[in-house]
Amino acid sequence: MAEITLRNLRHSYLDIPLSDADYALKKIDLSWQDGGAYALLGPSGCGKTTLLNIISGLLEPSEGEVLFDNTNVNALAPEQRNIAQVFQFPVVYDTMTVYQNLAFPLKNRGMGSSEIDRRVKEVSGMLGLADILGKRAAGLSADNKQKISLARGLVRPDVNVIMFDEPLTVIDPHLKWQLRSQLKQLHQRYGFTMIYVTHDQTEALTFADQVVVMHDGQVVQVGTSEALFETPEHTFVGHFIGSPGMNVFPCQLDAGGVRIDDHHIALDVSPATTHGTDGNLELGVRPEYIHIDPSGMPVEISAVIDVGRYRILDATLGRHSFKIYCPEGVEIPQSDVRVRFDPRHAHVYIDGWRLAGGAR
Ligand code: ATP
Repeated sequence: MAEITLRNLRHSYLDIPLSDADYALKKIDLSWQDGGAYALLGPSGCGKTTLLNIISGLLEPSEGEVLFDNTNVNALAPEQRNIAQVFQFPVVYDTMTVYQNLAFPLKNRGMGSSEIDRRVKEVSGMLGLADILGKRAAGLSADNKQKISLARGLVRPDVNVIMFDEPLTVIDPHLKWQLRSQLKQLHQRYGFTMIYVTHDQTEALTFADQVVVMHDGQVVQVGTSEALFETPEHTFVGHFIGSPGMNVFPCQLDAGGVRIDDHHIALDVSPATTHGTDGNLELGVRPEYIHIDPSGMPVEISAVIDVGRYRILDATLGRHSFKIYCPEGVEIPQSDVRVRFDPRHAHVYIDGWRLAGGAR
C-alpha cells in the first residue's frame, strides 16, 4: 500500500488549452493516506474518471505530478504502478473457473500454489464465492461476475491502491447494500487504500471514511459524511449532499449578521468582514435547520409533501423559494407561518466558498 499524492495536477484533453474552461481537471492538490477508505463523489462529467486514469497511469496529466510514497510515478506504465482497478462492468475470463480467475494474477506473479490456495479461499469466502469456485465464469450472473472482478483485485498482496469505478452499477439493488458492507469489512481486515468512485451520495457516505467531492474539475471538499452535511465548504456540496439539499439565498452583510431583502438574520460573520465582501454573497441553510417559530420571518407555504416520518414544505420568503424539513408532531399553522433559521447551522458563502457561520 502507498500514500498517493497529487501535486499541482491539471489536465486538458485539448492540445492547446486556452482558458480554465478547457481543462477537465482544473487544479488538484490532494493526498490519499495509506490505508484510507475514500469515495470520489461528483456528478457526471466532473472529472472523476479522468482523475482515476491519471492515478492508474492510463492517462498522462497535462501538468503536475503523481507521487506514490513521495516518489514521482509520472513516467511509470499502468502495470508498473501495481494498481487494481474494478470497472463498472465485470472484467473476467469467461472460459476459466472462478478459482482460476482469482488465482491467475497470483500465478503471474510467481506465487507458490499453497499460498495461492490460501488467499483464493480467504477472499472468495469473504465475498460469498466459496460455493462456486469450481464453476466456469461464463454461466454466472452479472452479480457474481462483478464479485470475481472485486476478488481479483483484493486477492493480490502487492497492490498500492484498489480503485473502484462505479462498481455496483450492474449489481441487483438488494445486493448492493450487502456488497458494500462486505467491501467495508474487507477494507478493515486488509487495510488497503481504496478509492471508490460514484455519483451516488448514499454509496459514498456508507462506504468511505473520507469523501472527496468533485465539481467541475475541482475538488471542492474532502471530509467525513458529518462534515459534508454540517459544514459544506462550497454551496455545491450543500446542494449535492442531503435530500433535499441546502437552501441558498442571496444576501448582504449586515451589522451582526446578514440580510435577505428586509430580513435580518443574526450570525457570527466576523471572518467574512475581515476577508472583504467583493463577490457574490449567499446564505446557506439546510431544510433541517429551518424551524417553524411564531417569532420568526413570515413565509408562504405552497406545498406540503408527506414523506412518512416527516414532511417537506415548499416555501417562499419574498421572492426566494426554499424547503423546510418538518418532523412528525410539529404543527404547521394554517396561516401566518413564520420560520427561524438556526444561526449555528447557517453559513455565509462568497462566490460559492464558505467564509463564515456555523457552530464552531
Ligand atoms: P462520468 O461519471 O459520466 O463517468 P466523470 O466525472 O468520470 O463522468 P470524466 O469522464 O472524467 O467525468 O470527464 C470530465 C470531462 O472531460 C467531461 O467534460 C468530458 O466530456 C471530458 N472528457 C472525458 N474524456 C474525454 C476524452 N477522451 N476526450 C475529450 N474529452 C473528454
